[in-house]
This record gives sequence, structure tokens and C-alpha cells, in this order.
Amino acid sequence: VDQALPHVANISPYIPGKPVSELQRELGLSRVTKLASNENPLGVSQRVEQAAQAALKTLGRYPDGNAYYLRSAIAEFTQRTMAEVMVGNGSNELLEFVGRVFAGPGDEIIFSQYAFAVYGITAQIVGATPVQVPAKDYGHDLAAMAAAITPKTKIIYLANPNNPTGSFFNAQALDAFMQQVPAHVVVVYDEAYLEYVERDDAPSGLALLDNYPNVIVTRTFSKAYGLAALRVGYLLAQPEVVGLLNRIRAPFNVNELSQVCAVAALGDQDFVSASVALNKQERSKVITALTQMGYQPLPSEGNFVCVNMGPNAASINQQLLQLGVIVRPVANYGMADFLRISIGTEAENAHLLSALAQVS
Ligand code: PMP
Repeated sequence: VDQALPHVANISPYIPGKPVSELQRELGLSRVTKLASNENPLGVSQRVEQAAQAALKTLGRYPDGNAYYLRSAIAEFTQRTMAEVMVGNGSNELLEFVGRVFAGPGDEIIFSQYAFAVYGITAQIVGATPVQVPAKDYGHDLAAMAAAITPKTKIIYLANPNNPTGSFFNAQALDAFMQQVPAHVVVVYDEAYLEYVERDDAPSGLALLDNYPNVIVTRTFSKAYGLAALRVGYLLAQPEVVGLLNRIRAPFNVNELSQVCAVAALGDQDFVSASVALNKQERSKVITALTQMGYQPLPSEGNFVCVNMGPNAASINQQLLQLGVIVRPVANYGMADFLRISIGTEAENAHLLSALAQVS
């Protein structure tokens, strides 16, 4: 253990949401509602289930290491060439690949305070210096982030909307920011929650790619597409950048079932629309109810809401667990008074709200 590299030993591990089975096992509860990992409460679409069933017959073979059908479906969907598309074991893996290819010891990686934890963890994994820029109103302070760029800056990670806060910045703000970023700095524009954004002034990751060759866009099938368990994400970038990233990719990083299901999920945009519509309706109901209870939810453009519950947040979290409701503490982000609550189905949200009415 003493021989471990200090920059690795110092990493605070990523803390995932508690699995439903764990709480059921611990408390013997029959009804557990998990609103902790920003998953799609509708589960998977029927078309995906059918595709998965058919794919079971080929599990004896290695998957297509180049993910031809999935990359070609993504290329068509995003109006790119296949050479601009890479798939990963969740977009998480791709975020880390970018770090491993473009940054190392002595380099700086910029991200916002309260931004997705994996950016800082990636900086630590590759031995680069994490540069965390203070947030503004719990969102990215793009002006301050631009001001933090130095000759050592290699990568800037942006999440829009951001997790865990749900914050969002518009196209104009992003454009003003991009104009201040030197061409040698890689900008990762993480669109994990893209589908949920319903604003006219939303930036387009695809337009960003067209205008700036130093941009990498990442997206995921884990949220609106309902495939969290299968771990599939993709990135879009210049073909040369994809070529570089591919050099460190393990063979067969996305398994066969995941490839087949992701193709089916991409082809079922009605399911995505239904998921987004449910989120829109339920998010506003949950926000209104939380506000009436005296809590302070942050504005959110995602499928979750980050709520200021006051100094009792940790105790409320424990009480919710006893009542079978799993939400996500964000103390590890330096937000000890907040809980992040994913938006569920109508019944799941009702369970959350009735449990909250019982906590003291
Ligand atoms: N980016 C953001 C902002 C996220 O919140 C998440 C999931 N928590 C991811 C990326 C990674 O998602 P996945 O690896 O499931 O694609």
C-alpha cells in the first residue's frame, strides 16, 4: 500500500447512489424508491427490451470492437461522419480518456466548483493540477473560468446542464467564453442532460464543434435514453482527436448488449420525448411542493433538483432512507446543506413527498 502513487492514494473516491437492493437488504423494506442517480424512471423502452432479447443469442462472441452499427447510428443522428464518433463505457470513461490523452503532471485542468465530480477525479488520476474555479449562484462562472486559463491549461470541462446543481448557461455566454479560450486548450462540453433542456437560448454542442476544432462533446445513453445499467456514452470530436483517444481505449470497451440496445434506444425518439415530458411535468410539481415545505430548490434544467434543506440535510437524508427513499447527499461537493433529488414517476415523487412530510 505504501508503494501506491501519492496522486492516486489522495483521490477521494466517487460515491455512487445507494442501490435499491442494498436498502432492501439492510432494512427489509418492500417498497424502496430510488431518486439518487438521475436515472430514467420509465426504465427502458419496449424496443430496447426486444433488441436486448434478440442480442442474448450472440453473447458467446466478442462484440464489434469498432461498434460499427452504433457509431453509424450516432453519426447519422448527429449529422457527423463515423470518424468523428467514439463510444465509451459510459460517457464517464470518455471524460477520463480525454484527461489521459491531453494532460499529465505539471498541466492544469479547469472545471467549476460544484461541477460533476469526475472532472476533478480525472485531473487527479492523470497527475495534473485540478483548478477548481469558484461557482457563481451555484453555476459555472464562465468569466472567472476564462480568467483562470494559463499557459499550463490543457483541458477545460464544462457541464451544461451541470450535475449536481442543475445549473445552466446559454449560448451567448458560451460563445463569449469560447472566444477567450486559446486554440491549444481542449474544451470538453458535457451534454449528459441535453435532452431535458427546454430553453430557446440553449447552446448547441454540434454548432460548437463546427466552430471550434478544440471542442469535444460528450453525451450519454444513461439518462433520457434509459440505459444507465448498460454503460454507454459517446463523444464527438475532430477525426484526428478521435484517432488519438482510440489509442488508449481497451479493446471491446462497449459490450455487445450495450451496443445493440443503444442503437435501438437512439431509434426510439418517442420514448425520449415521453421521458422528457414526464420530467418536465413532475419536476415542476416537485419543485413547487418542496418550496411549499420551506425548502429551497435551485433552478434546474436537468432530471433532478438540488435542494437546500438547511443544516438538517444529513439527518433528513437518514430519515428518508428509513422510510425507503434514497436521495443523494452532496456534502462531498462541499454542499452539506443540500440533497440532490432525481425526478421520478408520479408515484415515486409522491412517495418522496409523503416521506418528507414525516421527517423532523
Ligand atoms: N456527465 C455528467 C454531468 C453526469 O452527471 C454524468 C452521470 N452522473 C456523467 C457525465 C456520466 O454518465 P455516464 O457515465 O453514465 O454516461
